[in-house]
Amino acid sequence: MSWGWEDDVMTSSALLHPFADPAKPEGDFVKIVRAEGTTLWDDTGKTYLDAMASLWFCQIGHGNREMVDAIGTQLAQLDSHHIFDPFTHQPAIDAAEAIRSVSPMPDGRVFLGSSGSEAVDTALKLMRQFHRLNGDPDRQILLRRTRGYHGTNWGGTTAQGIEPNRDGWGDLVPHFVEIDPDDVEDAARVFAEHGDRIAGVITEPIQGAGGVFPPSDGYLEGLRRLTEQHGALLCFDEVISGFGRTGSWFASQTYGVTPDLITFAKGVTSGYQPLSGVVVGRRVADAFESSDAMLRTGYTYSGHPAACAAGVTNIAIIERDGLVARATEIGERFEAAFAALTRDGVIAGHRGTGAVQAALLHADGIGTRQRMLEGGVVVRPIGEALAFCPPLTSTDAEIDTMIDVMVASIRPA
Ligand code: PMP
Repeated sequence: MSWGWEDDVMTSSALLHPFADPAKPEGDFVKIVRAEGTTLWDDTGKTYLDAMASLWFCQIGHGNREMVDAIGTQLAQLDSHHIFDPFTHQPAIDAAEAIRSVSPMPDGRVFLGSSGSEAVDTALKLMRQFHRLNGDPDRQILLRRTRGYHGTNWGGTTAQGIEPNRDGWGDLVPHFVEIDPDDVEDAARVFAEHGDRIAGVITEPIQGAGGVFPPSDGYLEGLRRLTEQHGALLCFDEVISGFGRTGSWFASQTYGVTPDLITFAKGVTSGYQPLSGVVVGRRVADAFESSDAMLRTGYTYSGHPAACAAGVTNIAIIERDGLVARATEIGERFEAAFAALTRDGVIAGHRGTGAVQAALLHADGIGTRQRMLEGGVVVRPIGEALAFCPPLTSTDAEIDTMIDVMVASIRPA
């Protein structure tokens, strides 16, 4: 069958790309046709090193046959069936067990969805309902943090601390208050003012899309102390930082602060299937388990068997191949190189934890990103930061090439 556009991609204007200029012609995008390990191929045969693990998600590298086989085997056995009451299936049970066993809340429960945005919106709803179930329905205020990114559904859009992403959509979800991203005293002031009406706080332990910002000293501990003092909940959005990225299974463990809920997506399957969810800690789970009400939220594809099979296999591969420790090694390699480049004045500085790092340029990163693309390395510019978040299977030689191509692409400010 012919649709009429196969021969000339330039003439197809059907696809509306996310986070892109709607007027940009389809032919101006880089068309990726194949991927293997850390290498991507475009339709001209040019290769790139994927220094961003696609969009911060591909922990185990591309083209892993074990994953493809596990997903295919699951699809052949049970393509899909929902898990709303009264149904369940083994892939969903196994995924929930595997995820909570590596999380800092191994006695918690695991809600499943397909995207980070679904996980975030569910976590925000659960935080408010927790208080309602505890007889405190007036606790509706949710704190967000400047620079935060929490997806693009209504809750996540409102929870964002990146203003341009919130603008232009009309009225958002009520009762959100923004706090300073580095100074926990600001959160302390908000708690002093609204403490008995605050349902919870959502933050990434290391802010990713907002520019790769590890927490300032004492920040996460401060949020934990304030939420406990005031009876509010703490949710860490670990959509980027989960599944080994920062040198522990979760950044909660890296930074030593345990929240009440964790949202996850991306690295849980390394992107081979869309899977996300919320790890619900024991305190919150107790409130839901002891209420008579049913949990009236969820998605058709909550616990999709193929996605769950991908999650279980991915976690097993990360464990078996030592990729959590590899994230620390990758981070140390970037940090050593970036420190030397900072001393030499090539870059202005750097920040990051484990295998999520940013080089800080002396100028906006868009031009450097473009030249790096031409040089065969994919990074992500965020203002003057260039984000690096490679697959945890990347070799030392590949990491060195990513850095060398960056240096060759930097022009004097
Ligand atoms: N939370 C965080 C911390 C994220 O980085 C992202 C995606 N970059 C999301 C939520 C949203 O995930 P998704 O795009 O899968 O909806």
